[in-house]
Amino acid sequence: MDIIRSVTEMRKRVVSAQAAGQTISFVPTMGFLHQGHLSLLEEGRRRGDLLVLSIFINPTQFGPGEDLDDYPRDLEQDSQLAQQAGVDIIFVPEAKAMYPPGYATYVDVEGISETLCGTSRPGHFRGVCTIVSKLFNIIQPQVAIFGNKDFQQLAVIKRMTLDMNLPVEILGLPIFREADGLAMSSRNVYLSPDQRRQALVLSQSLATAKELVAAGELDCATIIVQLKKYIDQQPDVRIDYVQICHQLTLEDQNRVDADSVLLLAVFIGKTRLIDNSFLVIKND
Ligand code: AMP
Repeated sequence: MDIIRSVTEMRKRVVSAQAAGQTISFVPTMGFLHQGHLSLLEEGRRRGDLLVLSIFINPTQFGPGEDLDDYPRDLEQDSQLAQQAGVDIIFVPEAKAMYPPGYATYVDVEGISETLCGTSRPGHFRGVCTIVSKLFNIIQPQVAIFGNKDFQQLAVIKRMTLDMNLPVEILGLPIFREADGLAMSSRNVYLSPDQRRQALVLSQSLATAKELVAAGELDCATIIVQLKKYIDQQPDVRIDYVQICHQLTLEDQNRVDADSVLLLAVFIGKTRLIDNSFLVIKND
C-alpha cells in the first residue's frame, strides 16, 4: 500500500493503472476510520482492481465556528486499518495543493443541497461537491462508494454526477452502527459518557417512527411532533431538524409512503450528529 500526497504522483498512478486496463474504485473520507468506513472499503475492494482511499479534511465544507481545527486525525491508525482492508493507495493531499492561491472554482448543486443540512450549514454541500468532483477528476474511478449515513450528501452527489455527466457509478451502502444503535461517526469521540448515552435518542427516534408507521400512523406532522417531544426530554440535546422527506428530491412529505426517509440532526452539547432511516422499506 502506498501513501501518496502529491496530485501529480496520484495522476501518474491513475494513468498507469488505466494503461494496464485496471478498474479503479474509490472511497472518499475525512479519515479517523471506523467500521462504517471499513465496510465501504470492503465493497471497494470487491469492485475495483485498484482501490483508492482518500483522506482529506476539506476546509471548504466547514462553516465558521465548526470543528475544522478539532476534527479527529490519526493517519498512523488509518494506514494500518486501510492496509488490512486491502487498500492499494491512500491519497492524502494537503489543503494548499487542493486549494492553491488563486483558487476560484466551486460546484453548486441547487435545490436538494439547500434543505436539511444545507439550511443549517450554508455552503457545506458546495464544499463537498467541489472536493468530490476534484477527487473524481484526479482519481478517475469507475465506482465511488459512499455511506447512507450522510443521506443528503449521497443524494446531492448522485445529482451532481448525473447533471455533470461524470463517468462514475455512485454506490450508497447501509449505515454501520454500534451495538446499541448509535450510527458510527468520527465525531462520536467528542461525546462525554453522558452525552454518548443521550445520543441514543437518534436511533431510538428512528425505531419509534418505524413502529408508529407499522402501526398505521402515516401523517408526517404527527410523527414529527411525537419525535421532537421525545428528543427534547434529553437535557443536552438540541434539535437541528426532524424531517420526513422523499428519498430522491428530499422535499418534505405530508404522508409516509415507500419513498419516505426520516432525517434527523441534533446537537449534543457542541457535537452535531445526524442519522436517518427509510420508514417503510427496511434497507437502511
Ligand atoms: P466521513 O469521513 O465522515 O466524511 O465519511 C466518509 C464516508 O463514510 C461517507 O460516504 C460517509 O457517509 C461514510 N460513513 C460515515 N459513517 C458511516 C457509517 N456509520 N456507516 C456507513 N458509512 C459511513
